[in-house]
Amino acid sequence: MWVIIDRESNTPVYIQIFEQIRRQILSGELIPGFRLPAERKLADSLGVNRTTVLSAYRELKAEGLIGSRVGDGTIVLSYPDEELSVYNSSRQPEWNQIFSRYSNRFDSYLVKDLLKLASRTDVISFAIGIASPETGPLQALEGIERELVANRSYRALIHTPTEGFLSLRRTVCKLMQKRGVYCQPDEVMMLSGSQQGIDLAARIILDPGDIVVVEEPTYFPAIQVFRTAGARVIGVPIDDKGMKVDALEQLLHRYRPKLIYTIPTFQNPSGAELELERRKRILELASKYNVIILEDDAYGDLCYEGHLLPVIKSMDTDGYAIYLSTFSKNIYSGLRLGWMVAHKKIIKEFASAKQLIDLHSNSLSQWIVERFIENGSLEAHLVKACNEYRTRRDIMYEALSKYAPKDLIWNKPKGGYYIWCKLPDGVSSSKLVSKAAEYKVSFVPGSPFFASGHGDEYIRLNFTYAPIKDIDEGIRRLCAAMKELVIEKDKEDNYSITEINPIV
Ligand code: PMP
Repeated sequence: MWVIIDRESNTPVYIQIFEQIRRQILSGELIPGFRLPAERKLADSLGVNRTTVLSAYRELKAEGLIGSRVGDGTIVLSYPDEELSVYNSSRQPEWNQIFSRYSNRFDSYLVKDLLKLASRTDVISFAIGIASPETGPLQALEGIERELVANRSYRALIHTPTEGFLSLRRTVCKLMQKRGVYCQPDEVMMLSGSQQGIDLAARIILDPGDIVVVEEPTYFPAIQVFRTAGARVIGVPIDDKGMKVDALEQLLHRYRPKLIYTIPTFQNPSGAELELERRKRILELASKYNVIILEDDAYGDLCYEGHLLPVIKSMDTDGYAIYLSTFSKNIYSGLRLGWMVAHKKIIKEFASAKQLIDLHSNSLSQWIVERFIENGSLEAHLVKACNEYRTRRDIMYEALSKYAPKDLIWNKPKGGYYIWCKLPDGVSSSKLVSKAAEYKVSFVPGSPFFASGHGDEYIRLNFTYAPIKDIDEGIRRLCAAMKELVIEKDKEDNYSITEINPIV
């Protein structure tokens, strides 16, 4: 094990120690069972305080990378840690009889795989859909924390109503006015992330066998939620103006679905923006076919040019639309705080279900976010974040122009987090995943985003997470991986022509 301290760096020393050891564990340099030096010994050899090493070890423990074993001191854990598990008997439960039908419907392609990938420090990640923590408004939160202690704001640390603090819901109403929605606090409920809103919609609106219409492609965890609820998910094709509403009407007519799930603004994964006429038409169709629209507006704040179109909810005078949004994309995803706006009848049902799941969303996050909005920090941060993300998008776009193989097609989204690419003919995104891993770069292949299972010719590239200095290099590596596959495919094609046509 080695650790080098850079005393000129702005990164706190304990973080430097933590990151270097973490990197060595994740890369396999430090194998499970390896005994880390005692805190005092490492502190002495690095010339730092013992508490500095203690803090670094604490971070490593929190990530489950190291643990303490009596007699052995601090050791690197295997991941998952079977060796140290207390469950090592052969008389474990009959697992296949234990889990419910609901759990049997879980899909194996889970967000947690992406989170694991993003934590690998040797890979440039364009896979995960989060902002890089450094672009977040950390400094602005400092004052808020101090205020909490100074003012003895105990209410931030006890229960809130299931729907969330009333004062925060009032604040959200003001936010919604900027999005053209004039709602009352009792038409708002705070959520533990907008993901919870999707899950609650599935519980409250769907029965097994019901049909949900989604964009094709769409945010794949939503497909998983609907399927796990036992629903059938049908995709409507999109173009650069979003969901094709003529195709939607045919599906509504034929299948009578219960729910339309749409991400009208800077869609995940395609970046598409649903045009105004189509937004209006979807509402008309919802009313005509008595179907609820779940409008997921996770990226609406992140617009890099031009004006935002009105959200569907702003035109909904009858109560057909449920609006979801989140503080994950514009503040920090770890706050786990989002919100919904809907007809009071819908809020009541959703609140009853939410109460059974988590009583209410995290009080402290609610308290912090309310202050963050009310003291003007959100508005100021959004200007900064949009500038930063616009630059990142442009760097990625330019890098693609520089390195792309012939026939790669990619877009320039007006906002959001992703560039959506169509691979050259015959190059499969699932094959590219492993080739790209050799080049130490990652992305999300297209097919999970397609309810039909198609889409292997697409890939999604996130431009907000990787360090800005790595974007050009990551795209260079990715394009090199693509070019290798194109060459392999050309070789295969030539080979098969000679096979079929021995005369040539
Ligand atoms: N909807 C969409 C379209 C998303 O992209 C995401 C996050 N990637 C979510 C919902 C979930 O976000 P949250 O962190 O608010 O649960």
